[in-house]
Amino acid sequence: MTTDASSEAAVAQRQCGGCTACCKTHEIRELAKPPGQWCPHCRPGRGCAIYESRPEECRTFGCLWLAGYGPDRIRPDRSRVVLGTVTFTVRGKPLELVTMNELSPGALAQPAGQEIVQQLLGNGAVLLQWFLQYSPPRAKFIIPPARQRDATIAELDAAMHGRQSA
Ligand code: SF4
Ligand code: SF4
Repeated sequence: MTTDASSEAAVAQRQCGGCTACCKTHEIRELAKPPGQWCPHCRPGRGCAIYESRPEECRTFGCLWLAGYGPDRIRPDRSRVVLGTVTFTVRGKPLELVTMNELSPGALAQPAGQEIVQQLLGNGAVLLQWFLQYSPPRAKFIIPPARQRDATIAELDAAMHGRQSA
């Protein structure tokens, strides 16, 4: 995370610029666009051909990088990883996870991807990696050591994979 005032101002003004990564990685229900495939309205590296009338899902989504997380070099089209957040309710309590969608399969195994994972784990984040190349997409949890015995995460993991929790 950035700390000095000038850096914070720069981060606050972040724009997608040439990045169109989430137009591939994310499902857009309103367009029946599956995750992991380019939206037909996307001009990769340039933007949205229907920007003024784009679906609400597109209007409201912003990745963590756009929200200010991490340096410019991990912008999703550069790191090939789109970060987001999702909150599940387990046993009446909210559990916030960081989602990771690869723009290219294997991106998280590359140096930039590994840097992102290690930084997030070091911050204590529970990660949910989506594998978009499968239909339906598969997911796996990456849990920081301090939270390995968290029963809430184990319960959510079991529920997501259609198993009974122990
Ligand atoms: S992945 Fe983030 S930076 Fe890239 S287009 Fe989507 S919201 Fe913008
Ligand atoms: S409609 Fe536009 S903003 Fe939405 S996914 Fe398609 S190209 Fe991206």
